[in-house]
Amino acid sequence: MDMSECIFCNILAKTAPADLLYEDDEVIVIRDVHPIAPVHLLIIPRRHIASLNELQPEDAALAGHLLLTVPKVARQFIGENASYRTVINTGAASGQTVFHLHVHIIAGRPSVSNLFTRRLH
Ligand code: AMP
Ligand code: ZN
Repeated sequence: MDMSECIFCNILAKTAPADLLYEDDEVIVIRDVHPIAPVHLLIIPRRHIASLNELQPEDAALAGHLLLTVPKVARQFIGENASYRTVINTGAASGQTVFHLHVHIIAGRPSVSNLFTRRLH
């Protein structure tokens, strides 16, 4: 795939706009442009990895960093002892629309879990 066609690669290259909330050497965190709840964030690795299915054993440090970023930004943008849902869609049939690995953090709406349960059916 040509990375110039990947919206998240374009956001990372700053050739597409985004509401950037956090960044470090390995990941960025932006607000989802079509939020399904009051807080809907996306954690995106800088490196283009299409999905969890393409993650390799040598990506273990990045995978760990991605996961550790979840409570870090949740604390900052939702609150101490935050309650939220994390989602990683893998494959079009399961709702993946952007083929650059990302973690959704979703919070602030009681029905959020129902919404995702329904999506799976
Ligand atoms: P997924 O369906 O898991 O691949 O999630 C892709 C998410 O990216 C969706 O929730 C979209 O709303 C979101 N999205 C797509 N384009 C942008 C963008 N330019 N800025 C922020 N979020 C985006
Ligand atoms: Zn990409």
